[in-house]
Formats: sequence, C-alpha cells, structure tokens
Amino acid sequence: MGLDISEKVATFTLGVTGLLTTLFYKLYSSRERTADRVRNARNIPLKDLHDVLRDNDNRLAYATVEGIVDPYFQQLVSVHGTMKGVIQHIQKVEHKSKRVQGYWSDAKKIMQDTLEAVPFKLVEPPKGELEVYVNEALSADLLQDELTVTFDHFEPGKSSLLQSGIDRIFGEVSKGIQDTEKMLLVGTSLRGIGELCLEDGKAMIGPPCDGSRFILTKLSKASVVRKFESQAYVYKFLTVLFGAVSSGVLFFILWKFYRKWKDIRQQQAAFALIRATNDHSLPDSDGSDSNQQCVVCLSSRRSVIIMDCRHVCVCSNCAERLPSPKKCPVCRRYVQQFLPLFNA
Ligand code: ZN
Ligand code: ZN
Repeated sequence: MGLDISEKVATFTLGVTGLLTTLFYKLYSSRERTADRVRNARNIPLKDLHDVLRDNDNRLAYATVEGIVDPYFQQLVSVHGTMKGVIQHIQKVEHKSKRVQGYWSDAKKIMQDTLEAVPFKLVEPPKGELEVYVNEALSADLLQDELTVTFDHFEPGKSSLLQSGIDRIFGEVSKGIQDTEKMLLVGTSLRGIGELCLEDGKAMIGPPCDGSRFILTKLSKASVVRKFESQAYVYKFLTVLFGAVSSGVLFFILWKFYRKWKDIRQQQAAFALIRATNDHSLPDSDGSDSNQQCVVCLSSRRSVIIMDCRHVCVCSNCAERLPSPKKCPVCRRYVQQFLPLFNA
C-alpha cells in the first residue's frame, strides 16, 4: 500500500517528535534524579570526614563537603597578572561580520581555546590538616560557571581602508580580537558533591561510580537542588508538549489507515456484487466490437462504470486488479467507486 504525501509527512513528523520526546524525557529524568540525589546527599564537615569514612567502609557513594581551594605540587599563574589558580581557561576569539545570503550577521571564530588544571584540594581555613583531595575536577558539573574572569580585553581590528573594502566585497569583515582568561582562584570557597573515599589515609572526592553527577560549585546545596529542579521542570514541559504532538500525529496516521482499510473493504464488497450480477466470462460475441472491449485486457466485455469520471472502459476483473490507489485507465482520475453495468 503506497503512502500519499500527507502520510509521508505525518510518518516523518512522528519519527522526529517521537525522538525528541524520548530525548527530553531522558534529560528530564536525569535532572530530576540529580536533584533528588543532591537533596539526599549528606553534608559532612571536614573535621568529621575521616571518622565518617572509616565508619562507612572508607566510601560514601554520594555526599557533600565544603572547603577552600588550595593547590599542592604547583599552581597556575595568570598570564596577565599575578593571580594564582588551579584551573585556567584561555580563549582568543575573533569577532567578525559575515555576509550570508545578502545579510550581514555577527560571527565568531575561536583561534585559541586552552583549558589547564593542576591537582588541588579543598581545605578548612585556617589551613590545616583538614583537607579533601579533588579528583578529575575538569569533569565536574557547574564548575565552568564558577571561574573568575581574570582578563578580558577586546582589540579592535586595524585594517586599512583598502583592506576593509576588499573584505566587504568578499563578505567577511574582522571586527577585532577578544582575549579572555578565566581561573578557579586559590582561596575560592567551593562545595564538592560526589563520591568520597579514604585511600592511604587521604580523603578524596571525585566522580561517582554509579554515573551520578560530580558537582563543584559555589552554590549552596539548596540552590543546586533548585537549579536542577527548574531544568527538570523545563524538560518535563517539553516532554509533555512533544508527547502530545506525537500522539496527535499517531492518531492521524491510524485514522488514515483505518479509512484506507474501510475503502478497500467497500471496494471488495462492490466487486463481489458486480461478480454476482455480471457474467464477464463471456467473450465479446463477434470479437470485433472494440467499443465493447475492456481497454486493459482487450478480451472481456466492459462491465463496470467508474462513478468518479463516468467512464465505462474496463471489465470487472481488470477493475479489481488495478494497482492501488486505483486510477481510471482512460483519464487517470482517482477512483472512489465502481458500479456494475447492466447490459440489457
Ligand atoms: Zn479487462
Ligand atoms: Zn475516467
């Protein structure tokens, strides 16, 4: 059974909205789960950390600690000053105007993007032996939002009048270059939410084995929960919206197939009636009257009338065997109804 254009569009739409519904549902449940996990994460003061870990077989699947960022081994120094940190994100971006299909719009080209990190720990002020080592800090969620901008400078492009004229003709004008540096500074107060463990007398925090999110942030626990809850809310809304659209489209497709099935049943019933009332097996008596011959098989007598165009041109056998959707062999109009022809 061939699909018409509206059915093709509907099937494609169903595929796309179905995929989006699944995607949004996954995002929703992941955010919801994170909000739940963080809400239930136990808050452990650094002074109790070793004792609590020892009592729990040296491992806590999901808990939260707070402390001040402090490097060990070495620290990173700002390229543009004296500030010290443990994570350094440097970006050089060229801002441009680009002509796309006759319109000028802003565009960016990243020329340099480096992210560097050195090992660090969270300590309790004043600096003491109360500390927790941070593993795989760069994989932590929310951390990128907590970096302090330590340098931000825009250098406008200084091209000659001639050069900028040429650039305009080629449809790409450089506006200038922006240098930014962001750092996680030493001394920043940070909350870690993740898996805690005790190894060789060292307390550590890092990404949980069960795939839960590892979070490093300046936010309070309640704010982190709210942040993920509001994201979950948005994805829930999108899931419901696209789910409703998918169901609507699915309903439309089912309705179309039901209509098709009903049409086929009706035609089958019509042909049963035609067969019962028409003796089409009789060949044309003299075989020369071409006005009476079916235009398809050229042997049987024309025995049905196509109601849509009023053409009498085929025998009932050929009418039944016309490929679906059926078209009149003479004028190519779509056929809804055949009726038997009674030759008196
Ligand atoms: Zn025929
Ligand atoms: Zn016709």
